[in-house]
Amino acid sequence: MSTKKTVKDYIRTIVDFPQEGILFRDVTTLFADARGFRMAIDQMLHPYAGQPIDKVVGLEARGFILGGAIAHQLSVGFVPVRKKGKLPGATIAQEYQLEYGDAVVEIHDDALAAGERVLLVDDLLATGGTAEAGIKLIERLGAEVVGCAFIIDLPDLGGRTRLEGLGMDVHCLCA
Ligand code: IMP
Repeated sequence: MSTKKTVKDYIRTIVDFPQEGILFRDVTTLFADARGFRMAIDQMLHPYAGQPIDKVVGLEARGFILGGAIAHQLSVGFVPVRKKGKLPGATIAQEYQLEYGDAVVEIHDDALAAGERVLLVDDLLATGGTAEAGIKLIERLGAEVVGCAFIIDLPDLGGRTRLEGLGMDVHCLCA
């Protein structure tokens, strides 16, 4: 019998990855467990039950795994936000700041219709820079972000405050 009770129990921390001093939250152990994965998907969706949602947008790369499962559960389409140069069709791009330097994410320019209601998903919220770039792409296509769902929040890095400052509804399962 498993002693794991909460979603957090299935997540492991890898010390010094990808570089020294970083404690990397590894959700692959959560995804690999049938009960843990289902619990995470159900809990990410819970606040949005009964709300009209037209599309799920997932942020590369673990947001694709979560977003695909959530979109399937909601019976809606899934749209990827990818790092620069990965999407094959015409895209719009959004630059954002990393700790060292800049990064660019893209979305297909026909992936969302104006007025569509979107749930944005990723595994982890740190500074909120990646999610904010995703929000900007969604809004530039005329769609509306009804919620931002993550498994993990790292509150010391301020992402929740940043996204709530943009008027977003932020939902995280654990810290
Ligand atoms: P932010 O843009 O600073 O909020 O960083 C969030 C992005 O970095 C997300 O796409 C996460 O997948 C990724 N990320 C940052 N730290 C971790 C971690 O410890 N585990 C897994 N993903 C992480």
